[in-house]
Amino acid sequence: MPDGPPFRPSANIADLRESATIAASQRAKALKSAGREIIDLGAGEPDFDTPAVIREAAKAALDAGATRYTAIEGILALREAVAREANASWRGGAPITPAEVVVSTGSKQSLYNACMVLFGPGDEVLVPTPSWTSYFEMVGLARATAVEVHGDPARGFKVDPERLGRHATPRTRGLMLNSPSNPTGSVYSRDELRAILDLAASRGWWVISDEIYVRIAYGDPASGALAVAERRDHLVVVNGVAKAYAMTGWRVGWAIAPAPVAKAMTALQSHTTSNATTVAQHAALAALTLGEPVERAVREMVAEFRARRDAALPILKAGGLTVLPPEGAFYFYLKAPGAGSVPDAGSAFTLRLLEEFDVAVVPGAAFRTPDWFRISYAAERAQVVEACRRVVRAAASHPGA
Ligand code: GLU
Repeated sequence: MPDGPPFRPSANIADLRESATIAASQRAKALKSAGREIIDLGAGEPDFDTPAVIREAAKAALDAGATRYTAIEGILALREAVAREANASWRGGAPITPAEVVVSTGSKQSLYNACMVLFGPGDEVLVPTPSWTSYFEMVGLARATAVEVHGDPARGFKVDPERLGRHATPRTRGLMLNSPSNPTGSVYSRDELRAILDLAASRGWWVISDEIYVRIAYGDPASGALAVAERRDHLVVVNGVAKAYAMTGWRVGWAIAPAPVAKAMTALQSHTTSNATTVAQHAALAALTLGEPVERAVREMVAEFRARRDAALPILKAGGLTVLPPEGAFYFYLKAPGAGSVPDAGSAFTLRLLEEFDVAVVPGAAFRTPDWFRISYAAERAQVVEACRRVVRAAASHPGA
């Protein structure tokens, strides 16, 4: 029989690009398994084990029968725990109820579901840039248009109401917020957050606040949107257990959204993935409710991230690199040597870094700032330090630098 017509992507995914952050770490893994000694500072994935008390709680839940479907929106105890934690910072009015919490297979799914239920064809969504690669694709999958709002590098690329206002049109329907930010490590102050939320409220925009790094901050605790918002009728807060508790592979996230939005997100999930893995939900419940043993582990992990930052940042600076000093998350964002003289300097430099210096990082094109690149310091301190020394050596010998 003759071959049928070749695969032609549907209109849904015609413009979809593979996740560059995931691709970078897959490539590093492939090279490693082929025998190359790569230092992988690509993936934004904590290198710590999930705290033992959480693993023990998950084993116990498994033995107690946590193996079946749960409610699509997640087990009540976990939604109660999320609501309780959120209410500790929310002061704006009626308390958040478990009915306003939808547990999903990772904050990535919650962000996607939120985009799908809030945005559609003809809508524009403001995306402070540089920003995590998947926001652009998620907004595109919802068939809305992501509008890049480039921040000021001198302010850690943060945006303010004036900049956002300049990119707004009558079609603007929403805004993606992310503090602490991936890839810049910038943290918005309470006042900065409040000013943006006030603008959004005055324009009737939806705000999706991705707070996955909120517990990883090196100065004052980072503030989430609920701590400063006056209202939350157009606010969706997304978080999960992956980064704070070193639980990336468990795949549990959640959204806190007004009840009708939560209902729509649940309906969407009911046709796609159903509930997040049952035993993983119990592990997430343990993370949120076991108290001191978990909190101690979080403090230790944040302290180690800080120590890595403090060990590596002076090396990068002394090497003459332009680097944003991270206030949260676990990324260095750096200007690529050759920026301004070649297009996509970040990709050219990071390719050379991988090929000649065995260091994997992510080019800034993934975050819509091709003159930059990202180093994740979610790896052993000695490796981070060694990799940063190699980055400096590579930069010193880079053509056009
Ligand atoms: N968010 C992390 C990163 O930026 C993990 C990979 C991903 O899901 O994008 O590296």
